[in-house]
Amino acid sequence: MSRSIEPIIVIGAGVIGLSCATVLQSRYPQAVITIVAAEFPDSNVPSADYASAWAGAHYRPIPQSTAQLRDEAQLAFRTMEVMRNIARNSPDAGVATMQGIEYVENPGDDVSGLRTGDVYAGPGDGFRILEQSELPVGAKWGCDYQTYALNVHVYCQWLLDRFVARGGKVFQYHLSRASEAFDLLQRDGGPPIKTVVNCSGRNFDQDPKMKIIRGQTVLVKQQYCKTITRQNRDGSWIFLIPRPRHGGTIVGGTKEIGDFYEKARPETRSKLLQMCVEAFPDFVGSVEEFEVIKDNVGRRPWRDGGVRTEVEAFGQDRRIVHSYGAGGRGYELSWGIAERVAQLMGRNSNIPARL
Ligand SMILES: Cc1cc2nc3c(=O)[nH]c(=O)nc-3n(C[C@H](O)[C@H](O)[C@H](O)COP(=O)(O)OP(=O)(O)OC[C@H]3O[C@@H](n4cnc5c(N)ncnc54)[C@H](O)[C@@H]3O)c2cc1C
Repeated sequence: MSRSIEPIIVIGAGVIGLSCATVLQSRYPQAVITIVAAEFPDSNVPSADYASAWAGAHYRPIPQSTAQLRDEAQLAFRTMEVMRNIARNSPDAGVATMQGIEYVENPGDDVSGLRTGDVYAGPGDGFRILEQSELPVGAKWGCDYQTYALNVHVYCQWLLDRFVARGGKVFQYHLSRASEAFDLLQRDGGPPIKTVVNCSGRNFDQDPKMKIIRGQTVLVKQQYCKTITRQNRDGSWIFLIPRPRHGGTIVGGTKEIGDFYEKARPETRSKLLQMCVEAFPDFVGSVEEFEVIKDNVGRRPWRDGGVRTEVEAFGQDRRIVHSYGAGGRGYELSWGIAERVAQLMGRNSNIPARL
């Protein structure tokens, strides 16, 4: 089969870049697709800026109280469908379906309209509002539904391995801006690169709508069986996310807007473990019993208005397809975002796609 048609470059090997590259690979089987990234899933010491390496990660739906959240819910439902298939068919991918539980101390209007039987995480999620008798002390609202969690290291490496096994290329390089990618891999006499998909997480800090939200969590050896979140009255959170394939459990976590501190704060670790013992006594009975594997600190690439999926013309016949700014939801929106990128490309491309 000829591979001489227009190549595609995807910037970024986080969950968004890997998912976009995977979907584009199946839509454009004849195109040479190269992922260019400063950091890849096998980086030994990932930086705090490589958010995908530090995520929990679970799918915790957000009630659809705004147009943005309604749109994101569609992306999340589609992602849930794909993740369920992966969990069922590819046990080595590090994805597992499981029960999700939430407790809220100070419920707002966004949850008061929800009813048992509603679609919360996606069709067939078994969503149920908990009875008062099922709530722990201090919680006023709670729910139970089917969701999934990922072992992020296993999952991202699995995506990358599949991409490479199907003919995808990788190139480790630190770009100064997205447009630099057009000329980076241009070979003499080879077809010109006209499409760059920008999954750089933060768009090189050139988008004024971008902020970072620092997250600190603790990975412990003990393995929990479901993902559970408690939102406290003071705005703090405590959650547990089991990592499939015996990866331990994430005890989280903080959401610190604009805080770039990249080391773990010991006092944050102590506070999270203490809160965990108080909120989820069935997991670990005392702080001393925790077997801590490591602290995690990552910067969520949050964008005001939500993820940017948009085509930007660059010169006469080049374009950058943007796909960055997924904030704290990159995993749970990933497949929906990747398919949206492929749709955008289909409308703006001369490259023959497989329908
Ligand atoms: C503590 C924490 C917990 C989280 N929990 C969850 C969760 O439970 N569920 C969920 O869905 N999400 C969660 N997230 C959010 C999730 O991690 C992000 O939304 C997601 O990782 C963003 O993916 P991305 O691919 O857009 O960016 P990134 O993962 O940051 O990847 C960006 C890629 O672009 C490359 N890149 C950037 N700049 C350049 C450059 N100049 N040159 C070359 N390459 C470049 C990087 O090297 C990297 O490969 C969490 C995040 C944190 C920090």
